[in-house]
Amino acid sequence: MRLTVLAGGVGGSTFIRGLLKARPDAEITVVGNTADDITLFGLRVCPDLDTVMYTLGGGISKERGWGREDETWVIKEELAEYGVEPTWFGLGDRDVATHLVRTQMLDAGYGLTAVTEALCQRWKLPVRLLPMSDDRVETHVVVDDPEQPGKRKAIHFQEYWVRWHAEVTAHQIVAVGQDKAKPAPGVLEAIAEADVVLIPPSNPVVSVGTILGVPGIRDAVRETKAPVIGLSPIIGTGPVRGMADKVLAAVGVASTASAVARFYGSRTTGGVLDGWLIDTSDSIQADSIAGAGIHVQAVPLWMTDETTTAAMADAALNLAEAVRR
Ligand code: GDP
Ligand code: CA
Repeated sequence: MRLTVLAGGVGGSTFIRGLLKARPDAEITVVGNTADDITLFGLRVCPDLDTVMYTLGGGISKERGWGREDETWVIKEELAEYGVEPTWFGLGDRDVATHLVRTQMLDAGYGLTAVTEALCQRWKLPVRLLPMSDDRVETHVVVDDPEQPGKRKAIHFQEYWVRWHAEVTAHQIVAVGQDKAKPAPGVLEAIAEADVVLIPPSNPVVSVGTILGVPGIRDAVRETKAPVIGLSPIIGTGPVRGMADKVLAAVGVASTASAVARFYGSRTTGGVLDGWLIDTSDSIQADSIAGAGIHVQAVPLWMTDETTTAAMADAALNLAEAVRR
């Protein structure tokens, strides 16, 4: 079975671990979000690709959920001693090695797809990890300037997320460079040739939204013969972890499972979803989702451990079979 997953960082990779447990023999392609990418101190950093790589490769910090286990912070401390900015981004020593290899290969002329493949070899990744695009796309957020009251400015998504914890009001989210970006080699094929396309409980705006926004990818999802099944990242009226509600508000979408389903839209009306899993506590929203032309089922959606997450993956694949019939 060929499965293609459109994934952000923590939500996406946690789900994929469950998927691997549920279907150990499946051939899984992960299309990763690269709109979070940022250049710091000359190093190209790809937070979501690295979260997938470290999580599935066994190198992730379990405590933090991002970055490396057994990390040390000497480089960060030394940079701070020199007084250079930014100081708010957590670049650990082990992690820096990844960014050095990546930057060196990019500078030598390799595309991000080839670089990612090379990095993943070390981790013996049980999936194929593709960036959404080899072209540079960077999410910027127009916010109330935290330092100049009454003014607005555009800042990099990482500054909004990591430095300001999404606590400054976001007015607009712009994926800079996206209009001219091309899907990375293999992405459109992985969507067209999949048996099932999965949208994990990832951020609908700045993870899955930016992947779908690369010209050609949304159309490929609309047109694939495979059922497309998503899992809600929202339970009740808020994100399970993180601050997805803030970026949903910035694009005018309520933080409910039903509003996010409508934001993705049904494939019967030009959207990307055939099926949508919501949490059992949200089952009252099922009728409204079904009314939008999306097959819906309520199951427990808290990824508390691998067994529960595997059951979610299983439910998604069963819904795909029901949709196919
Ligand atoms: P990021 O790139 O690291 O922000 O990660 P993703 O975009 O892949 O996923 C972030 C989303 O995952 C957030 O909107 C969370 O609400 C969602 N999420 C995290 N943990 C869980 C969980 O246990 N269950 C569900 N349903 N969603 C979750
Ligand atoms: Ca991310």
